Amino acid sequence: MSLEPQERRRYELDDRGFDEVPAKYRKYYRRLEGPRDTLAPNELLCPVCKVVIRSTRELREGDRLYCMACLTRLRVISGAAGIEGLVEYT
Ligand SMILES: [Zn+2]
Repeated sequence: MSLEPQERRRYELDDRGFDEVPAKYRKYYRRLEGPRDTLAPNELLCPVCKVVIRSTRELREGDRLYCMACLTRLRVISGAAGIEGLVEYT
């Protein structure tokens, strides 16, 4: 049983060959595949290095993510086109 009001969708991640992070973490990142590429509800574009960060669950506003490719901490916010990553300095 979940205490969250709405169950989040879960995602199986596959390795997309992102080799800028250790093999163990590869499935959590991928590169954008051209201008027609669209992000899934569990994916967030890093505004710093433009790598796609992938989560095992649907992302929501307020979630915090870490981009291992450029070592940036991000907070998920809702923007004009859906969710966006806001850089957090700590
Ligand atoms: Zn990044």
